[in-house]
Amino acid sequence: MTASHKTRRVAVVGGGITGLAAAHALAIHPQAAAGDLTVDLFESEERLGGKLRTSPFAGHPAIDEGPDAFLARLPWGTALAREVGLGEQLLAPAQGKAAVWWDCLHPIPDKLVLGMPTGAVALARSRLLTWPGKLRAAMEPLLPRTALDADALGAFVRARFGDQVHERLVDPLVGSIYAADTDHFSLAAVPQIHGLAAGSRSVLLAARKLPKPPADAGPVFYAPRQGMGALAAATAESAAAAGACLHLSTPVGTLERDGHGWRLDDEPFDAVVLACPAAVASGLLAGVAPDIGAGIATIPAADVAIVTLAVHERDWPTALRGMSGYLVPKPQQQLVTAASFGSQKWPHWQVGGMVIVRVSMGRDGLAVLHRDDEHLVAAAVDEIGHHLGLTLQPLHARVSRWAGAFPQYRPHHAARVADIERALPSGLHLAGASYHGIGVPACIASGQKAAARTAQSQFTVGT
Ligand SMILES: Cc1cc2nc3c(=O)[nH]c(=O)nc-3n(C[C@H](O)[C@H](O)[C@H](O)COP(=O)(O)OP(=O)(O)OC[C@H]3O[C@@H](n4cnc5c(N)ncnc54)[C@H](O)[C@@H]3O)c2cc1C
Repeated sequence: MTASHKTRRVAVVGGGITGLAAAHALAIHPQAAAGDLTVDLFESEERLGGKLRTSPFAGHPAIDEGPDAFLARLPWGTALAREVGLGEQLLAPAQGKAAVWWDCLHPIPDKLVLGMPTGAVALARSRLLTWPGKLRAAMEPLLPRTALDADALGAFVRARFGDQVHERLVDPLVGSIYAADTDHFSLAAVPQIHGLAAGSRSVLLAARKLPKPPADAGPVFYAPRQGMGALAAATAESAAAAGACLHLSTPVGTLERDGHGWRLDDEPFDAVVLACPAAVASGLLAGVAPDIGAGIATIPAADVAIVTLAVHERDWPTALRGMSGYLVPKPQQQLVTAASFGSQKWPHWQVGGMVIVRVSMGRDGLAVLHRDDEHLVAAAVDEIGHHLGLTLQPLHARVSRWAGAFPQYRPHHAARVADIERALPSGLHLAGASYHGIGVPACIASGQKAAARTAQSQFTVGT
C-alpha cells in the first residue's frame, strides 16, 4: 500500500479572535499557498469577532462593547495587529490613576503585583486597609511557607496577607480582569502571583528579587484606534485575502466521525479546530467523545453586562479628571464591580463635551443577565452616583450583554485541561478562552497553536 497526499480541508468553528487567528495562521501557511490545505471558518452570528465588538455610541463611531485593549507584555496581540496592517493604529491608554471604592475612593497603592503587595511602605501609607489589616499584611515574611497544593488564589492570599489584602486589593484587581470570585479561582492561572508564591517561602521576600522593569518597557496595553473590533475585522480580511472561506450566520450543529476525518453538519473535513465557547464544544463532542465533552462541560463561565454611559462634562467633578476608573470589592458590591472612565483612559473617545463611562456589572457568583436593560442602566446610574457622590443624568446609555463571557478557571484547571487535550482524538483541536488564558493575546496564541498543530499533523490516505 502506498500513501499519497491530498488537499486537506480544515474547519474552524467560531469566528471570535481565537478562530480568526487560527484561520489566518492556516490561510497564510505554506501548505495553503502550495494548494495542500484549505480552511473554512464557520461563525453562528452574522458578524465576526465574538467578544471583540465595537460600535457607534453617543455620536462616536467606535466605542468598545467588550474588551477595550490587550496586554502588550505578551507578544501575540501586538504581533497579530502588526501582521494584519494595524501596527500604525495601535494606541496606549492614558496613564490615569485607578482607585478602589471602600466607603470612598482610595488610590490603588504602588508596588502591587495584581493587588499583592511587594513592599510594605506603600501599603502602610494607604487608607484602604485598617491598621490591624496593615499589621497582618506586614507579618507575611514571618510566616511559614504556605502549601500550594490547593491551587486556590483566595485561600493563598488570605493565608499570606490576611483577609483585607485579599478582599480590598487582590480580589478586586484579579476579579475585574476575569469576572472572577477569586475564592474559587486557580492560583496557577494567575502566573504573576503564582510565580511569586512558588519562588520562595515569603512573597514579600521573593518580590525583593524581582528585576526592576526596564525604563523603556513600553506601554502595558494597546488597542487599535478604531477599537478592538478592528483587530477582528483586519484579521478576517487578511485571512480571506489569503484564501480562507469565512461563513457567517452558519452555526455548526453536529460533529461526526468520518473514517480518519470528520463531518461537520455532514460536510467532510480532515481536521477541525473547535474555537467556540466550551459549552458549545462540549455539545458538539457529546456524540463522538462523550468523556471529553463532559470534561469540557465542567469549565463554567460567568455572565457580565457592560453599561456604557455618556454624561455631560460640566456634571463631571474636577477631582475625577485624569483618573482611569475604580474597582468595587466583593463585600461592597451590589451589581457594579468596576467603572472605567473610558474617555479619560482613551482621549480619542472624547466627543461633544461628554465623558464616557463603562460600568462592569456581574461576575462569577453575581448574576445580572436576568435583569432587563432598564433595570441595569438604573442600577449603574444609582450605584455609580452613590460611589462618586453625584446625581448622574446620562445623555446616552447602552447595555451590552455577555452571556457565558468569562470562563472560570477553578483550582486545578490546568491539569483538567491537560487531561482533556491528551484524550482528544486525532484531527480535533480545542482553542479559545476556556483553556489556556482568557485575555485576547492568550486567545490568539491558542488559535495559532491549534493551527500549527493542525498543519503539522500528516494526514495520508491509503491508495
Ligand atoms: C466585557 C468583556 C471585556 C473584556 N475585556 C478584555 C480586555 O480588556 N482585554 C483582554 O485581553 N480580554 C478581555 N476580555 C476577554 C476576551 O475578550 C475574550 O476572552 C476573548 O475575546 C474570547 O475570544 P474567543 O474567540 O475564544 O471566544 P469568543 O469571542 O466567544 O468567540 C467564539 C465564537 O464562536 C461562535 N460560536 C458559538 N457557537 C457556534 C457554533 N455552534 N457554530 C459556529 N460558531 C459558533 C460565537 O458566536 C463567537 O463568535 C473581555 C471580555 C468581555 C466579555
